[in-house]
Amino acid sequence: MFGKPGAGKGTLSSRLVKKYDLLSISTGDLLRQQIQDGTEVGKQAEEIMARGGLVPDELMLRIVTDKLDTLHDKHWILDGFPRTLRQGQLLEAHLQSRGTPLTLVVNINVPDEVIISRISDRWVHIPSGRVYNTSYNPPRVAGYDDVTGEPLARRADDDPETFTRRLQAFYNSTNPLLEYYGALANQEVVTTENVHQHPHQLLLDRPDKLVVRTVTGSTSDIIWPDLDRIITTMFPTLTPRASGPEGAQNTTPLAGVVAASEAAAATSSLK
Ligand code: AMP
Repeated sequence: MFGKPGAGKGTLSSRLVKKYDLLSISTGDLLRQQIQDGTEVGKQAEEIMARGGLVPDELMLRIVTDKLDTLHDKHWILDGFPRTLRQGQLLEAHLQSRGTPLTLVVNINVPDEVIISRISDRWVHIPSGRVYNTSYNPPRVAGYDDVTGEPLARRADDDPETFTRRLQAFYNSTNPLLEYYGALANQEVVTTENVHQHPHQLLLDRPDKLVVRTVTGSTSDIIWPDLDRIITTMFPTLTPRASGPEGAQNTTPLAGVVAASEAAAATSSLK
C-alpha cells in the first residue's frame, strides 16, 4: 500500500482486512505500539517520529521481516513500508530469497491540499490502529473507540508543522520508490522457456510480473471500489470473510486487531 502520509492507506487496508482473509502490517502502528510499551525500539523511534523523520532502514527491515517470516501461506498487505528506495531493495531481496516476491503495489493518490485539510481532524485508537475523522467519520462517542471504548488520541506527528515535514520526507525519500517498482513491473518475466538457470534459481524468480496500479480520489470512500476491483481481479481466489458488511466501515475487525497485536508480539523480541 503506497501513498503519502494521511492518504488513507490505514483506512483502506482495514477495509480489505475486514472483507478478505488477509493480514495488514502497518509499520507506523507497530512503532507507536513499541513507543507505548517503552521498548528499546520505541525509545529509538520516538524522537525521530516526533520530528517527522524516518526511522533507519535496517531497523525497519528487521521489524517487518520478523513479522513476515511468521506468515507462511498468508496474503498480507504492507502499510507504510517500504518508505525509502533502500527499504524497497532490502524488502525485494528478502522476499526473493524466500521465493515469495511482491505481486502488487497500489499507489493511493490523494492531492496534498485534501490531505492537509483533513489531517487536523484525525483521531486514532493506538492499540488497533483504527482511524477516525471528526468531520466525516466520527466515533460513536466523541473521543472514544467504537470497538473497545478506550480513549482515542491525536497523533503528535499530525500537528501541521511536523506533518509538512512528513510530506516532505515522502517527496524526498518515498516517492522515488514508484519508479523503482515501475521498473520491476516492466522487467521481463522469467519463464522456463527463456531462461537457462539451475532449477534452484528458478524458484527464486518472480513467478508473475509485479503489477503497479494507481487509484486516485479525495476520500477513501471514493477510492475503495477501484481498490476492491483491483484486488478481486488480481486475487480471484482470495477468500472473503464469512460475516460482516463487506468493507463498508472504517473499523478494523477483530482479525485485524489480532494481526496488529501479533505483529507487536513478533517485534517484542527486539526489546
Ligand atoms: P505512519 O503511521 O505510516 O504515517 O508512520 C508514522 C511515522 O513512523 C513516520 O512518520 C515515520 O517516522 C515512522 N515510520 C513508519 N514506517 C516507517 C518506515 N517504513 N521507515 C521509516 N520510518 C517509518
